[in-house]
Amino acid sequence: MTESNLLKKALKKEGLRYTQQRQLIWDELCSSEEHRDAEEIYLSLRKEGVNASRATVYRTIDVLVKNKLVRKLDLGDGKARYENKIDSTHHDHLICVKCGKIEEFMNDKIEAIQDDIVKSLGFKMIRHIHQLFVLCDKCQ
Ligand SMILES: [Zn+2]
Ligand SMILES: [Zn+2]
Repeated sequence: MTESNLLKKALKKEGLRYTQQRQLIWDELCSSEEHRDAEEIYLSLRKEGVNASRATVYRTIDVLVKNKLVRKLDLGDGKARYENKIDSTHHDHLICVKCGKIEEFMNDKIEAIQDDIVKSLGFKMIRHIHQLFVLCDKCQ
């Protein structure tokens, strides 16, 4: 399915109209690999000349999260960050507690160990969040 169709499907499910603005919000999320909060996404859209209200941007992001097109990250600082889930494979995050820099990592050994733990208890893994809070190279 194309990215536009995914958006249309999600909006329809939520009873929302497909609009050019919402398409541009989705495009903006798809075009970035960063982990940004809703305000940063809103400001970057404004900078590109997209005339969407803050409410529309926030609401659209919520819909995208709910429909699993966007991943919401809770870094424990009260500010959710978002990243698109379309072309990103599974990964976990390193977060600098000082400057907020976020690095992605993926380690097959850790993935396997997590699966083993779950299986050894007779459970079934649904999803996991693995975050390492660090001081980055510049902040040490
Ligand atoms: Zn740092
Ligand atoms: Zn990420």
